[in-house]
Parts: sequence; C-alpha cells; structure tokens
Amino acid sequence: RGYATVSNAHLPPVAGVIDVPQRILMGPGPSNAHPRCLAAMSLPQLGHMHPPFLKIMDDISEYLRYIMQTDSKYTLAVSGSGHAAMEASVANILEPGEKILVGVTGIWGQRVADLSARFGGDVVELNAGLGETLSFESIKNAVETHKPKVLFLCHGESSTGTKQSLEGVGALCKANGCLLIVDTVCTLGGVPIFADEMGIDVIYSGAQKVFGCPPGASPFFMSDAAMEKLQSRKTTVATYNMDMKLIGDYWGWYGGRSYHHTGPISNFYALREALAITAEEGLENSWARHQAMYELLWEGLTDAGLEPFVKKEEDRLPCVNTITVPEGIDAAALCGFAMNKYNLEIAGGLGPSAGKVWRIGIMGYNAKPMNVNLVVTAFKEGLAAQGFKK
Ligand code: PMP
Repeated sequence: RGYATVSNAHLPPVAGVIDVPQRILMGPGPSNAHPRCLAAMSLPQLGHMHPPFLKIMDDISEYLRYIMQTDSKYTLAVSGSGHAAMEASVANILEPGEKILVGVTGIWGQRVADLSARFGGDVVELNAGLGETLSFESIKNAVETHKPKVLFLCHGESSTGTKQSLEGVGALCKANGCLLIVDTVCTLGGVPIFADEMGIDVIYSGAQKVFGCPPGASPFFMSDAAMEKLQSRKTTVATYNMDMKLIGDYWGWYGGRSYHHTGPISNFYALREALAITAEEGLENSWARHQAMYELLWEGLTDAGLEPFVKKEEDRLPCVNTITVPEGIDAAALCGFAMNKYNLEIAGGLGPSAGKVWRIGIMGYNAKPMNVNLVVTAFKEGLAAQGFKK
C-alpha cells in the first residue's frame, strides 16, 4: 500500500474504565462539579438547532440576566473556557489602533494586555502593587489622562486573591466615553455584581468555579452601549470563532436563529442546571454563603497561625483566598500532604504570587462547612508535620 504499518501496541490499555481518583478540589478552580450538573450532562444529545435545545439556550440567557442583574438582551454562554470569553470580550469591543487601559492586579490583567495587543489594541497598563487593588483615584487619573476607548478590570484576581472594587467606575467610564469590561470568572454568583447599576458594558465568567460545572461554557454579557459599538465597528471582528454578531445570531439576539458553530450540547445542559441551582438558592443567599464560608476558613486558618497575603480586608476575594507561606515552611510539601492524606487539593501561587502563597477556593458546591473544615484540618496537620510553631 505504501504507507507505514498501523500499530496499536504502544497505546494505553484499552480494556477497563479510566482511573479517575475522587478529589476535593479546593484550589482556585476547577472546583468540584455539582452532582446535578454531572447528571444533566448524561442526558441525551439534541441537535444544536433543535427547538428543545434552543429553549435551553434561551433559559441560560434568562438565568444570566438574573445572575448578572441586567435587563440587557445580550447574555449568552460562550462555547469554550474563560479564555474564550475573555478573548471574545476584547475582540468584539476593541478596534485595532484603539486604546485599552488594562488594570493589572495579577496574571489575568497581564493576559488581557497580551491578547489586546494581538487584536491590534494600543495597550496601556495600570499596575497595582502585589496583593493590592487599584484605587478609584488611580483609575480616574489614568482614564482622564489616557482617554481609552475600553477599560478592563479583573473583579476577582485568582492569582493574588484580590477583589477589585468597581464602585464608581462605570459612571467614570460613561463620562469619559469608555466601555468597561470586567472579568468575573472567580466572582459571578459568589460576590455581588449588578451589571446595569454598576454600569458595566461587558462581563465574562467561567463555569467551573462558582457554578460548579465542568469547564466549557462561559457566561457572557454585553450592554446596549457595547452592542452599539459592535454594530458600528469600522473593521470586521478579527476572530470568526468569537464574533458576537454571528454568535448572537445563534443565540437569538437579533430575532432570528442561525448556525454559527455546534454548541457544546452537554456543557449547556450542565450550565443551565447550575444557573437554575443558583436561582433556586437565591443570589443573595449564594453571596451570603460564600461570605460565611470565607469567614469560617479564616477563623480556622488564623487559629492555625496563618495570615492572609492580602493586607487590606476590603481587598480580599472570598472566592479565592491567598495565604502567606510562613518562613521555613515548604509550601509544596504541605500541598502534597493534603493530597496524599485527604485527596484534597490545596494550590500554590501563580504568576506573581508563585512560591509566596497557598490558594484556597471557596466556590459553589464546594463552599460548605465540611470542605472548609477539612482544609483547615489539613493545614493544621501539614504544618505540624513540618514542626511549625505559631
Ligand atoms: N480569569 C480568571 C480570574 C481566572 O481565575 C481564570 C481561570 N483560572 C480565567 C480568567 C481563565 O479561565 P479558563 O481557565 O476557564 O480559561
């Protein structure tokens, strides 16, 4: 035949079930999926244009309006992880040559700066100190000085454990003819967001954090002003895959319904279920539960002799907590201890916080006393094993 001989001799064993250990994922994400979301994923496939599937997409849009507190028509789930939604935000709202001011409080701002440059943006970074957030004054100064067309802020910076205040920023942007993009991958559903009242123009999030879904379908929102900008672009959106004029038409934003790509059917089932669970609990109850579990965590960690990496209490993100690694303690060894003994994930730092912190997620299905108390126990035992004295 002329081609090489085909062999399967080197492949992993094909008999038996894949070996997936049961783990408690208390890092910055993914967090454990809610059993109801996993069950939803095992429902039969539908065609991606079948009316019952389009109804599920409509339900997602409707639940997202509640969860983001907006009346905007323009809510949907991007097919892909948080990065896809992040890219969609920038690619649709920023035109080549336009200025984008990027608030950098950790790696997510850095990443948005990187991808904005790839889409031809004129990027200006506004950097916060490590473990700190940007003051309203510094944002105001930068907006008034640089007059950007777009401002990006990360609401919950999972690499540093900071929560950026959005107070007054929407109005500031409006007054300066600037659109506001906010990353809520680690906050939506767990920390209050009022898209309309806060004057946010674009929000993106993720499924695998507070919503307790597998990754793959990411909440997304655009304000009317963001839509006007999209519709009046002089240039075509540089990515076909994430073009919201086309994707919006798959989601029924413009009255019709046309094929753009095959939606990830099972991921949309799971997300619909997750959003329904949040709606059933009630948004305010969900925010309160995340806050209560964050307080329970710090009560235990303080008792263990540990300290928050983020110095100002108001800057701390309840959903992803950064804990300073004490002098002389081997951070990775403690993570290994928790994993070996309890199948429990405690994560190390990322980007600018690498080697300096542990990170603990308090998110969604995992935000419950049973899990939080286990984290505290693992820290106490892991520290004792290294001879730590408070
Ligand atoms: N933004 C933030 C704040 C995140 O924590 C993450 C994921 N860790 C992302 C964006 C990217 O999301 P994903 O990994 O789902 O692409």
